[in-house]
Amino acid sequence: MTPPSYAEKLRARADAIATACVHAGEEIDPVTLGLDAPISLSSAFAFRDAAHARAAFEGRDDAYIYGRWGNPTVRALEAKVAALEGCEAACATASGMAAISGTILAICSSGDHVIAPRSMYAESARLLRERLPRFGIRTTFVDASPEAYAAALEPTTRIAFVETPSNPRLGVIDVAEVAARARAAGVLTVVDGTFATPFSQSPAALGADLVVHSMTKGMSGHGDVIAGCVAGPEALVSRVRDHVIKGTGAALSPFDAWLVTRSLRTLAVRQERACATAAELASWLAADPRVAVVYHPSLATHAGHEIAARQMHAFGSLLSFELAGADAIGRGARVLERVRIATHAVSLGDARTLIVHPASTTHSTMPPEARALAGIGDGLLRVSVGLESAADLERDLDAALGPAA
Ligand SMILES: *Cc1c(COP(=O)(O)O)cnc(C)c1O
Repeated sequence: MTPPSYAEKLRARADAIATACVHAGEEIDPVTLGLDAPISLSSAFAFRDAAHARAAFEGRDDAYIYGRWGNPTVRALEAKVAALEGCEAACATASGMAAISGTILAICSSGDHVIAPRSMYAESARLLRERLPRFGIRTTFVDASPEAYAAALEPTTRIAFVETPSNPRLGVIDVAEVAARARAAGVLTVVDGTFATPFSQSPAALGADLVVHSMTKGMSGHGDVIAGCVAGPEALVSRVRDHVIKGTGAALSPFDAWLVTRSLRTLAVRQERACATAAELASWLAADPRVAVVYHPSLATHAGHEIAARQMHAFGSLLSFELAGADAIGRGARVLERVRIATHAVSLGDARTLIVHPASTTHSTMPPEARALAGIGDGLLRVSVGLESAADLERDLDAALGPAA
């Protein structure tokens, strides 16, 4: 029997979660019978009587009390996220950074230690490198191998933080191996799965204790909301909820929660298409002489290909590539000026294809040697593949790449 094609694998993954995307966490409104439950904007909820209030405060009744502590629209989103991640519980947060900082602060105290990858989302790196040390929380940054994580373990290590695939070269970390070593040392593994979305990987099934996402990206998928989430076992998620939501106030607004719930209904169809287009563009770019190297986990030449093929349902919708030839900085910037369909903007996971050239923009003030150490070549372009026609995107990039140098 021939092995399934990538298109067949994508369809199988979409089939596995499509029903949960549409139905999980959602109920027809019992009062109006509206198919879409009304957005609940109440900041406070009435008690039926004194006994009801007492039961609510003592935690014996699941009643809503106050919007920051819980809200029906937010709770519906959390139930859908938990279902999609295959986790017992999930907590929605005001942003991806609220999910990440809140998770670390809920678990770590002064004197504790975190292990994190050298290549990670810049604001997460800053949080660990510059902000948390003020509160006595130290971080060791390691290469992406499970051996490097194991070697960095200390008696006070509380979290092995993983981001996979990672920014900007789609590095892949072996979640099962990192989690197994962490667990043996009593350390929790937290995975930032933003680049993959729950469509492309299920970190909890690989052994991760908590999964965090910026739902601003592929999960919401339309570039119209800032949101985050944390998913995992109820006991851990409620610790994070108590800290992030009750304690620091990073609650997601009901309207934003409704936007994400609405978007997650189409996660399977959106990601199936974006992942297929990304793999198609990656193999087209890999064969183009104007391109020196393409980073996408679907390519056999990619350093993380084998791990990704094992641990991911799909290879994701982000890719990056390095221009070949001289004056890569100048030519990278020209690509941004020539694209007509791809849009020059930060963020990712939008319905629009987005393109960035770190060396001439976000990382232009960094010395070239430091950029190179961070894996950001002068001609590196990162593309977040959207939902446009693959042929149109190929024509757009082909024209933008211009004549060979
Ligand atoms: C965007 C992003 C974040 C931060 O999320 P916000 O919603 O912007 O706070 C964290 N991690 C990764 C990998 C991201 O791409």
